[in-house]
Amino acid sequence: MKFHRLIVPLLGLGLMGAGCVTPLAPADLVDVQQAIPDIVLDIRYATTNNFTGQVLYPTAGAYLRRSVVAKLKAVQAELAPLGYGLKIFDAYRPLSVQRQMWAVYPDPDYVADPRKGSRHNRGAAVDLTLIRLADGAELPMPTPFDDFTERAHRHFTDLPAGLRANRALLEQVMTRHGFSGLSTEWWHFDDVNWRDYPLLDVRVPPPR
Ligand SMILES: [Zn+2]
Repeated sequence: MKFHRLIVPLLGLGLMGAGCVTPLAPADLVDVQQAIPDIVLDIRYATTNNFTGQVLYPTAGAYLRRSVVAKLKAVQAELAPLGYGLKIFDAYRPLSVQRQMWAVYPDPDYVADPRKGSRHNRGAAVDLTLIRLADGAELPMPTPFDDFTERAHRHFTDLPAGLRANRALLEQVMTRHGFSGLSTEWWHFDDVNWRDYPLLDVRVPPPR
């Protein structure tokens, strides 16, 4: 019943249609690597190498809404002729994991309050960076993933030109394909249609 307790307040906010609160079929979450075989995954929350120091996911897969994956596929296709590709750090995140993160770092600038939910909980946000296809090396960016400092802000300018250019390339290609970047995290992008997808608390990987 936890799911319904979380969804009912959302109805009050008008984020979902009135009436039935049946969650979307779990099958609407797509395995990103199956859909985009050459995409690279480094799912940090499946390891202790994250800001909580805890393993939060049982497996290291990435899952997103079907239409979000289609957009990412277009991003990957546009990057390939440039010799670049995407590496994903996080994608769909169960609400139960959002609560664990909030317990460790209850700062709404960086971790969404689980009472509202994160766009990751909707399967409509992705954390990623650019890699060189030739050797898999990450392009240098202003900070590592999940660096909660001002240097990670999208509009932070006191950086070498190369870092600004890499950040801009990622932002431009993602924006062109229907994503918008979060101001405090250069690595985080929301599908511009994230409101279409309700919060979802299914296990990862989702049941088929
Ligand atoms: Zn994120």
